[in-house]
Amino acid sequence: MTLAERETQVVERVPKQLFVGGTWREARSGAVFKVEDPSTGSVLCEVADAGTEDGFAALDAAVAAQPSWAKHAPRERGEILRRAYELLMQRQDDLALLMTLEMGKPFAEAKGEIAYAADFLRWFSEEAVRIEGGYSISPNGQARFLVMRQPVGPSMLITPWNFPMAMGTRKIGPAIAAGCTMILKPAQQTPLSALALADILREAGLPEGVLSVLPTSDAGGVTEPLLRDGRIRKVSFTGSTGVGRKLLEQSAEQVLRTSMELGGNAPFLVFDDADIDAAVEGAMQAKMRNIGEACTAANRLYVQSGVATEFARRLSERMGALKLGRGTEDGVQVGPLIDAKAREKVQSLVDDAVGRGARVLVGGSAGDGDGYFYRPTVLADVPQSSELSTTEIFGPVAPIISFDTEDEALAAANDTEYGLVSYLYTRDLNRALRVSEALETGMVGLNQGIVSNPAAPFGGVKHSGLGREGGTVGIEEFLETKYIGVGGV
Ligand code: NAP
Repeated sequence: MTLAERETQVVERVPKQLFVGGTWREARSGAVFKVEDPSTGSVLCEVADAGTEDGFAALDAAVAAQPSWAKHAPRERGEILRRAYELLMQRQDDLALLMTLEMGKPFAEAKGEIAYAADFLRWFSEEAVRIEGGYSISPNGQARFLVMRQPVGPSMLITPWNFPMAMGTRKIGPAIAAGCTMILKPAQQTPLSALALADILREAGLPEGVLSVLPTSDAGGVTEPLLRDGRIRKVSFTGSTGVGRKLLEQSAEQVLRTSMELGGNAPFLVFDDADIDAAVEGAMQAKMRNIGEACTAANRLYVQSGVATEFARRLSERMGALKLGRGTEDGVQVGPLIDAKAREKVQSLVDDAVGRGARVLVGGSAGDGDGYFYRPTVLADVPQSSELSTTEIFGPVAPIISFDTEDEALAAANDTEYGLVSYLYTRDLNRALRVSEALETGMVGLNQGIVSNPAAPFGGVKHSGLGREGGTVGIEEFLETKYIGVGGV
């Protein structure tokens, strides 16, 4: 079979309808919207376009299924997740190809994301049977305290396009493990991975109504009435800070539990005493994973003056050697950006920095072809006043800013409203701990360029969000604590 035939086949196999209450069906209005391949700008397929009425049908299904799902044996909930994990891994190549087609990331990276996404299901299959409560004696000895954990209830899950599979499983995994029913609204640009995942969970034995998936071209029109309805009890969102803020406002009306995984502006600090080979390698990972379209992407590279020139030279060599192209082609390391708007934003950030005195060491312009390609770029002498320093770039651009002292680097690193992750390269243990403690972020990559791991608590502080996903705390986001005071013992 040729690659073109395989591409057609993986797209054809995915259900293109809404998944509501365990059934695939068209939108009530009959509407559809188009899904595009960002590497060519051509249309891949059309999918059903959910409206407000479909949202309420999904909510009715979630509310109806909640009581029996909460009583489902934890072991069975775990086994559904485990089977779904196995199915994802068995179909890793097809699912990766599908993701490359709708999102653009190179096939090898898409395969990595399928494994990462599947691992959330495996991790939470193990957590489902470890939900614990407590028993204690009141301080005056006259009562007993029983503490139990219960599912929060029907949950609204909203995910972005940049990690179309993993952002879904990072929420669905703990929701299933905790016994919550849910409605997933995937990003309009990448609904296919979410639809494929729904079909896998159905095949793995997820009961009807526990999960609905609603692709839509009218995100707010579908989700806002549900958040204001009162029967949804939780919203878990991954996306931009602006939309997160809007959802927090909407959630206030019904006092919903909220988890917010929002934007980032990660500083990447390299000190004179760092292992420069490791720092360059880490910068490549932290900057170029997902074409730079990651909330964890290194957005500002602060390099101490003693090594700044050498670091910039080596990073430019590596960035300049990367192969740009369609993610399905052999050897491609950098795919297209998600759309024309994203590429225009990256170009205007580069132009602004250059206008303020930054030097382009490599790249600095759009790539060839019909897709939304942008060349891997390194900028040196970037002034702290550049828009790049305060804006999430979301593209393959590495701005280097040199510094002299630790205090100066820390002040610059923390000079942002974001607080998701920071990276730090040094061989001095005292400095490593001192700087890690002072960085105002939810996560720190210490001598490593990737922090994401299903077994670790992922999340940010300040405008980067509320709550954590993954690790042993990930399931907490979907659990309430109930205390029973027992008298007369
Ligand atoms: P986005 O524009 O905020 O969209 C995220 C999701 O929200 C999409 O499903 C989107 O639907 C939906 N949405 C948009 N407006 C909405 C509204 N008014 N009501 C309800 N839902 C709405 O973000 P994005 O551009 O897809 O993703 C990039 C952002 O996500 C970046 O800021 C990145 O840092 C952040 N991110 C954070 C993490 C983390 O863990 N902290 C992980 C990945 C990404 P449509 O697609 O239909 O617009």
